This record gives sequence, C-alpha cells and structure tokens, in this order.
Amino acid sequence: MTRAVAVSLIVLMATSACLAGPDSRGSKTTAGGAMSSHSQSFNPYYSRTDARKLELPDDVWKKVLSPQLYSIARHGSTEAAFTGRYWDYEGKGSYYCAACGNPLFRSDAKFATTCGWPSFFETVRPGSVTYRKDTSFGMVRSEVLCGRCGAHLGHLFDDGPPPTGKRYCMNSVSLEFEPDEAGKH
Ligand code: FE
Repeated sequence: MTRAVAVSLIVLMATSACLAGPDSRGSKTTAGGAMSSHSQSFNPYYSRTDARKLELPDDVWKKVLSPQLYSIARHGSTEAAFTGRYWDYEGKGSYYCAACGNPLFRSDAKFATTCGWPSFFETVRPGSVTYRKDTSFGMVRSEVLCGRCGAHLGHLFDDGPPPTGKRYCMNSVSLEFEPDEAGKH
C-alpha cells in the first residue's frame, strides 16, 4: 500500500464516522425504550407495543424527556406555529406519542391547514387519546392527552373536514413519525 492510498483510507474512515455520528445518536427502538430525536436522554418507558398506562412522577418525566418535550407534554405549553417538523409534512406512516410511544394517528387522517400545527380528523383508535376541559386564556377548549401516559398533545376543535368534522390540532414536538415500510401499504 502506498503512502497516498493509506492517507486516503484514513480520511475516508474519519469522514464516514462523522456522517454516522448524528444518525447513531438519534436512533430509536420500537419497544422497550428509545433514544429519539426529541428525547435527549434514554427513555426506558417508551414502547410502541406496551399499552399499559404510565403514571410517573414529574421528576422522572423531567429526566427522560427533552426540555421542550417535557414543557409541552407535562406542563401544557405550545410550540410556536409554523415551527414544528410536521405541520406541513405529508409522509405516509404513523404518528406516535413522543413521550411514551403510544400510537396516535395515521397519515391518512392528516389534512393540510393554515394554522401552523399538524392536524388530523381522527385518531388511530378510540382509546389513543383522552380529553380534558381546558378553560385557560379565557377560552373553553377540549385538551387532548395521550391515552397511555397523559402527555399534553394539543386541542380538539369542531372545524375539521369530513368525515368527522374534527380537528386534532397537535404539537409537532409531542409526535414522532414513523414511515410505512416500502411496499407494505
Ligand atoms: Fe404518551
């Protein structure tokens, strides 16, 4: 091996390592915990298959969620309109709770809006979410919570399209999208 070839190989290996870095840090599993792009710490409570209810103390959530997800999911804050990753996203697949992995929506129920947040006309199944009356900011709204972990997801309005007329107005931060496998749907 010539000196030039050896140097080239070293440079190539170093470049590959840099490119692989962010992907490996952002990788996630579908059951038994996840290291997602939203979650800065490993979240051992994350599962897309375990439907058991999660009731965890606030300080535990604070440890396993990113600061932004913790603020929205556990304290009901809202991401700024048009800033989230999914408000105008059109990929085919499923949306899961970013805090616990509970299946929430299918892309088939997502519709284009001008409100700046991802919006759906129905959940993937009736128990996916729960509702709570929200009287903050001088309004009476229906707050939407994750049916498994109770995370704040967004609000429900009655100005959606057919067939339900509902608009689940969600925070992108509260969701994690998983594309359909090629050729599966
Ligand atoms: Fe959840």
